Amino acid sequence: MDRHVAVLAFPFATHAGLILGVLRRLASAAPNITFSFFSTAKSNASTFSVAPENFRTGVERAEEEIGKRVSCVVADAFLWFSGDIAEEKGVSWVPVWTSAACSLSVHVYTDLIRQTVGLEGIVGREDEILDFIPGFSALRLSDLPSGIISGNLESPFAVMLHKMGQTVQSATALAINSFDELEPSIMKDVKAKFRYALNIGPFNLTSPPPSSNVADDHGCIPWLDNHKARSVAYIGFGTVATPPPQELKAMAEVLEANKIPFLWSLKDSSTSHLPDGFMKRTNEYGKIVPWAPQVQVLAHDSIGVFINHCGWNSVLESIAAGVPIIGRPFFGDHHLNGWMVENVWKIGTRIKGGVFTKLATVKALELVLFREEGKKMKARVDNLKELALEAVGPNGISTRNFTTLLNVITQ
Ligand code: UDP
Repeated sequence: MDRHVAVLAFPFATHAGLILGVLRRLASAAPNITFSFFSTAKSNASTFSVAPENFRTGVERAEEEIGKRVSCVVADAFLWFSGDIAEEKGVSWVPVWTSAACSLSVHVYTDLIRQTVGLEGIVGREDEILDFIPGFSALRLSDLPSGIISGNLESPFAVMLHKMGQTVQSATALAINSFDELEPSIMKDVKAKFRYALNIGPFNLTSPPPSSNVADDHGCIPWLDNHKARSVAYIGFGTVATPPPQELKAMAEVLEANKIPFLWSLKDSSTSHLPDGFMKRTNEYGKIVPWAPQVQVLAHDSIGVFINHCGWNSVLESIAAGVPIIGRPFFGDHHLNGWMVENVWKIGTRIKGGVFTKLATVKALELVLFREEGKKMKARVDNLKELALEAVGPNGISTRNFTTLLNVITQ
């Protein structure tokens, strides 16, 4: 059917690229849909104050230009007000949550968490365990994303996510970048709250990354070809986070002292923080690049561990490749993802104390690469990999959920 879908993207980190991947899938499954994609520098210049009006005006202009009324609003779930735009137009609203169901859930339960835990801050209560969030058997207070009960609750980001949690349940359908078997108990609760809560991921398996991300400009893959199976530590902290200089130095010193083969995706601006002569001295077993084709790197059998920030894409890509994780979370959902990695899925460990010190780093590497527990992590992540591949297979649940999503959008 001839449909016009308004797409509202969120201009932060990997968000816009992920939603674009979903649209590409929808477009190839239903070529008659016209998509108007709203995410210009201008419309997002002040995302938090004028964005709703900019989007409203943009949608009207697109309707005039294309000559078709918008029939559905697909939006990054962060843009909670997109639900109002859909309602005003009397059309379906499909928010896309680009992260895990677990992080969506804690935003949906923000009011309950605030009422139960209080708003006096969590200093001294960091290790307190919450056991009342449906779907979570336990969760540490300090692993909740900041803005729920800690940090600045009035920041534009915190307010946006709070509103998102309060409004998202009125979605016609919610699309999530995960797969049912990864978070079964959380999904059971989430599904009960939504008309359609549809895991259609992992997106890294269903929407291949753009070719610019895949190019191996720095020769990572041929370099990995010269290394033994499961011997190399791949290090990368996504598109936004960078560990502070002293942590980069601690990491470098551990790699050098233990001669651990490593491939490190590190921005050029950070290499000056490495110890003098480090790159030259480690030349035989280490490689530093400003950008790596991460999905291909992780799929290489030489990779034994992925040291990352627990960004959701990195976690999913590690799962899809069957690589255990050493996590050093920074902000947003990283801590919660790290909690899941370490305590629920048990496919990795977080750096003790939360920052790279020499001792914590060497212990984490030993555990994952050389200890019995590391072998168990590898077996568990391999199992999740199989489940992820099944989910996106021809009859897999994520594939079937995608068909449901397509029906919602085209009906
Ligand atoms: N990425 C990559 N090469 C790099 C660094 C990052 O391809 O050298 C990609 C990675 O594959 C992932 C994304 O960038 O898809 C990072 O997403 P994530 O959610 O992990 O972190 P964010 O950038 O959103 O903080």
